[in-house]
Amino acid sequence: MTEVMQTLVLIKPDGVARNLIGEIVSRCEAKGYVVRELKSIHASRELLEQHYAEHVGKPFYEPLVEFMLSGAIVAIRLEGHRVIEGFRSLAGATDPTVAAPGTIRGDLGRDWGLKVQQNLVHGSDSPESAARELALWF
Ligand code: UDP
Ligand code: MG
Repeated sequence: MTEVMQTLVLIKPDGVARNLIGEIVSRCEAKGYVVRELKSIHASRELLEQHYAEHVGKPFYEPLVEFMLSGAIVAIRLEGHRVIEGFRSLAGATDPTVAAPGTIRGDLGRDWGLKVQQNLVHGSDSPESAARELALWF
């Protein structure tokens, strides 16, 4: 039996603005994962700079922070066995144009011609990232 894991899921400002909170939470629940905590927040620049520290200096970094500051974000503590990789699978590839149909980004996202991909969700990419990010947001 593997350990029960938790991951940080964020519904980014585009997902909130497009009224996709229910659709995205529904996909997590339908998969079988459990929502342990959920809140809507306007993130501060400080929080986002810590959250995306690995991307400092990349061309999309400042547009990404500005995008994440542009509206409300829904933060979710999602739980289940192998939920970190499982949610990344539900989310699909970073680029919504090529994200597989059936995934959140593939079904619901598209390229809007902007400096940053507005791709609806964030999901932690490792146990270390999940622990770090959950401590930042909750
Ligand atoms: N991003 C982008 N262009 C890129 C890489 C990333 O616009 O070439 C944005 C996109 O919104 C992505 C976020 O920056 O979700 C964080 O990038 P990461 O590589 O961590 O992708 P993710 O883990 O979200 O799939
Ligand atoms: Mg990432």
